[in-house]
Amino acid sequence: MNRLSRIFPKVDPFSLQTRLTIGVATFSALGLASLASWTSWKMQEILIDSHKENIKQIALRLPRDIEIYNDMLPVEIALQKAIDNRSDSNILLWVKSVDAKIIAKSTNFNLVSPSHVTELTSLSKMPITAEVNLINGRYFILYGEELKLKGRYLGKLSIVKDITNDQTMFIAMVKSLTVASILVIIIISLIIAIYIQRSLQPLRHISQMTAAIKPENLAETKVDLSNAPSEVKDLAKTVNMMLSRLSQAWEKERQFTSNISHELRTPLTIIYGYLQSMLRRKQNLTEIQLEVLETAASETENTIHILEELLDLARADSGYLRFNLGTYRINDLVNEAVEMAVKNSSRQIEIEVESDPIMVKVDHQYFIQVLLNLIDNGVKYSDPDTKITIKLKRSENKGIIQVCDRGHGITLQHQSRIFDRFYRIDEARTRSAGSTGLGLSIVKTLVEGMGGNVTVSSQVGEGSVFTVSLPRLPDNTSDN
Ligand code: ADP
Repeated sequence: MNRLSRIFPKVDPFSLQTRLTIGVATFSALGLASLASWTSWKMQEILIDSHKENIKQIALRLPRDIEIYNDMLPVEIALQKAIDNRSDSNILLWVKSVDAKIIAKSTNFNLVSPSHVTELTSLSKMPITAEVNLINGRYFILYGEELKLKGRYLGKLSIVKDITNDQTMFIAMVKSLTVASILVIIIISLIIAIYIQRSLQPLRHISQMTAAIKPENLAETKVDLSNAPSEVKDLAKTVNMMLSRLSQAWEKERQFTSNISHELRTPLTIIYGYLQSMLRRKQNLTEIQLEVLETAASETENTIHILEELLDLARADSGYLRFNLGTYRINDLVNEAVEMAVKNSSRQIEIEVESDPIMVKVDHQYFIQVLLNLIDNGVKYSDPDTKITIKLKRSENKGIIQVCDRGHGITLQHQSRIFDRFYRIDEARTRSAGSTGLGLSIVKTLVEGMGGNVTVSSQVGEGSVFTVSLPRLPDNTSDN
């Protein structure tokens, strides 16, 4: 994973990281954009104000200039001289008489084309406060006022300053400022995203740690975040306290299950013994009594079976399930289990061996229990005229046993849950088949206890395949 995909693993619009990043980045962008706009506006104002000031100064001084020239020259020539004196290449002045005729005009204004000059001088009204106007693609400051000499009205004075060069430079600068601001906003957003991602890391850590908690490791699990911020440390402390309470509750429940199973199993076994001995003397019983006793014996047997399974699970949960591991050929163990299974059922069970004998390290008794459980399920959940097949395979480092039936099958939705305790798919039907919903969870516990794993694949109406994989030993290993 590269750095960017670590920072944005998958953008979740509702995550705290996305919300914080968007929020902080938006506020930074708004702040920066406002600062950039204000700077541009202020600079524009300063630039234009200086030009306006320049125009006002010209308008203020022009009458005095005319007065000085008028001491030696006629008023028309004095006016022209004063205008030329105050104009330059980008300042144009002209004076119009009452009948709108130009009586004097700058002669040294040469920056723009004659058409611009004609357009400017033909403007009928000039603003009395200097303002910027865009005329034919060029920027001008326009200003107009009445021109008087010693109280005598001379005409209407118009002053125009061409500020296109300054304005173009200013616009280029604003564009650069905008690009720079956008880049800065992008960089700031990235830095903020990385910072927020790092700050939220401890929370992700807590989430990963709590996701890995199972009943078996509840007591040992501690969320340890020594370098995290105090708020997250507080959260970790609360989670640890909750884990400790859960662990105690789980331990109590385990203890209770174990005790109750133990306490009930002994009297029930005695009752079952009595019922069996009464059933052996069936010649003394009426038909109804026989039926009642048979039902009672069968229910008692089922209940003892459940209690034994519960005891096994309680032992496994508290770590008291001891595995007496030895080296065996799977082939021999499978034959043994099948021999036992056929004694209790008339079902046809065939074994398909794909490879040479496979050596594994397992607990003999538990391995047989696993196989008997899976075969028993295959028999229970398929029609009597179908057969059960046990396949033996090997992969590079695994020995694989598959128990296949051609029964009802299990839908995908149930497949992920049948290994849970007390989970039965069709409660009514399975109850009558003497099922407890504990068999597969015991299979899972035992197989995992021996270092393997068990999975199921199934097609509704076609049957199910339960696959047990166990670590395989080298072929030349000698068995027990
Ligand atoms: P049970 O004692 O009910 O058989 P299990 O834990 O062995 O308990 O099985 C759980 C549930 O999974 C069963 O109730 C049954 O519905 C389903 N199941 C188990 N094995 C099979 C199978 N081979 N074919 C169809 N369903 C099965």
